[in-house]
Amino acid sequence: MTRNSGTEINIKINKAWVPLRLGSTRPDPRTLRRGRLVHGGHAVPLRTCVGCRVRTAKSDLLRLVAVGGDIVPDPQGRLPGRGASLHPDLGCLDLAERRRAFPRAFRLPGPLDAKALREHLEAPPAGCVGRKAGNGSDV
Ligand SMILES: [Zn+2]
Repeated sequence: MTRNSGTEINIKINKAWVPLRLGSTRPDPRTLRRGRLVHGGHAVPLRTCVGCRVRTAKSDLLRLVAVGGDIVPDPQGRLPGRGASLHPDLGCLDLAERRRAFPRAFRLPGPLDAKALREHLEAPPAGCVGRKAGNGSDV
């Protein structure tokens, strides 16, 4: 009897039968995510911006964490808890607020205050962090 070379099975994807070769470590191109985020064959971690919903390299997005009802930026990625990712861009912040993406992203019920985040995005980029140095106690 004739046998197929290699082990091949058919799986059903979107109502179409697709041959799948077992034992192959090569990823099927169909399972690769679209995008231009592969550097020299190494896939970078991807995150979805909660504002514009674009998948981007994690390093291009700002990690956010909800702390007691406030959304705080976590550029170092060191805060514990469930995070969300956003382009460091006011446009994406506006989009996320308009579609109420934050409570969903953080899995929290209540409204979240993005004021600290907005201030972070409106502030000049890194390098000017110390503009209020020495006066941390103003309310
Ligand atoms: Zn975005």
